[in-house]
Amino acid sequence: MDLTYGPDYEVFREEVRTFLRQHWRASDDPAEVAAFRKEAVAAGYLYRSVPRRYGGSEQPSDVLKARVIREEFAAAHAPMEVKSLGTQLLVPTLLEAGVEWQKERFIEPTINGQIKWCQGYSEPNAGSDLASLRTRATLVDDRWVISGQKVWTSFAHEADYMFLLARTDPDAPKRKGISYLLVPMRQPGIEVRPLRQITGESEFNEVFLTDATTDADWIVGKPGEGWGVANTTLKHERAWVGDVSGSDQLMNSLIRLARRTRGPSGRPWIEDPGLRSRLVEVQGFLEAHRYSGYYQLSRALKGESSGALGLTNKILSTNIAERIAAIAIDILGDASLLPHTGAGNRADVGAERWMYQYFGSLGSAIAGGASNIQRNIIAQRGLGLPRVQEN
Ligand SMILES: Cc1cc2nc3c(=O)[nH]c(=O)nc-3n(C[C@H](O)[C@H](O)[C@H](O)COP(=O)(O)OP(=O)(O)OC[C@H]3O[C@@H](n4cnc5c(N)ncnc54)[C@H](O)[C@@H]3O)c2cc1C
Repeated sequence: MDLTYGPDYEVFREEVRTFLRQHWRASDDPAEVAAFRKEAVAAGYLYRSVPRRYGGSEQPSDVLKARVIREEFAAAHAPMEVKSLGTQLLVPTLLEAGVEWQKERFIEPTINGQIKWCQGYSEPNAGSDLASLRTRATLVDDRWVISGQKVWTSFAHEADYMFLLARTDPDAPKRKGISYLLVPMRQPGIEVRPLRQITGESEFNEVFLTDATTDADWIVGKPGEGWGVANTTLKHERAWVGDVSGSDQLMNSLIRLARRTRGPSGRPWIEDPGLRSRLVEVQGFLEAHRYSGYYQLSRALKGESSGALGLTNKILSTNIAERIAAIAIDILGDASLLPHTGAGNRADVGAERWMYQYFGSLGSAIAGGASNIQRNIIAQRGLGLPRVQEN
C-alpha cells in the first residue's frame, strides 16, 4: 500500500506551508482571524466547493489537496472554515437545493460569520422518527405562518435564522407533506428557552413557535419536498463528525495525561499494564478508522462511492471519543469530578475538562441521528439487510 500523495501534492504542500508562514500570525483576535481566512479563501484553500460569487474559492474538487490543506493548517494551528451549523449544514444544502437569490443572500454572510443559524428539526415526539414532526406551516397570502415546538435546538439563543422542518400538507403521507423553511429568529412569534445540559452548559434550547412568520419564498425546495432537502443536510452532518484528526488529538492528550499522572503504585499510569492494554485497544479502533478513511479516500479519487464503510464514520469517531474520555476519567479518579472552568476551548482537554469531554461524547453519539439509528442505516442501506418487522 502506497500512502504517499505523490510529487505534485508534495509541491502543493510546500505552497501551503509557504502561504501559512507568510500569512498566519498565531492570533486569537477575531479581526485578525477573519482577515487571515479572507486571504486563505483568495489563495484557494478555504470554502473550496463554494463558488467565488458567493464568497468561496471555487476550486476543482480534489480530495487529496483538501487533505493536504487540512494537515498543514492543523500543523500550523491555523483556522480552517468557520465551524457552525450555518457553514457545515445550511451552506452545502443551499448549494445543492437552494435557488439563486437564496445563495446570493445567505451564503457569503454565513461563511463570514456575519449571520448565525440554528437547526429546527427535532421535536418532543419526533427525534429518531423525525418524519413524525408536528410543527405546522400554512401559507397565508404571501407568508408562511408557523406554529409548533422544537427541542434540542443548538445555539437557538444566538441565532439570527433557523432552517426548520414543518408540515405544510397534513393530508399527505408522513414524509411527503414536510417543507424546509428559513425563518428569522427575532420576531414576536418565537420564544427560545434554554435547556441545561449534562455538561453544565446551556448550548441548546426549546423553541416555541406561535404564529411565527416567514416570506413565502423562504422555502428550500418545493412545498412538500422538505424531507429530501433535510436528508441532504443530515448527510453533511454525519460526514462532518467522521474526521479522524479529532480522535488523534484526543488520543495524544490521553497519552500525555497517562504519562504525567501517577497511578496507585506511585509510577506514572502509562506504565500500568492494565491501562496499556486499554490504550492499545482504543489505538486499534483508531487505526482501523484511519485506514478506513484512506480506503474511502482512494475510492473517492477513483470517483467511487465508499458504500457501507462511509456510513460507519460517525459511529466510529464517537465511540472512540467516548472510550478515550472514559480511560481519562479512570486515570483522574476523583479529580475528574472537579467542575470545569466554563466554556472556552474544547481542544484543551486538561484535567478538569475530561468529564466535560466524556459527557460531550455521549451527546455527539445522539446529535445528528442516534448511534442505533445509524446502525440501522448501515444494516439496511449499507449491507442490504432486511428491515426489522415492527409490530
Ligand atoms: C448535543 C446535541 C445537539 C443537538 N442539536 C440539535 C439541533 O441543533 N437541532 C435539532 O433539530 N436537533 C438537535 N439534537 C437532537 C437530536 O437530533 C436528537 O436527540 C436525536 O435525533 C435523537 O432523538 P431523540 O432525542 O428524540 O431520541 P429518541 O428518538 O426518543 O431515541 C431514544 C433512544 O431510542 C433509540 N431508538 C429510537 N428509535 C429506534 C429504532 N427505530 N431502532 C433502534 N433504536 C431506536 C435511539 O437510538 C435512542 O437511544 C441535538 C442532540 C444533541 C444530543
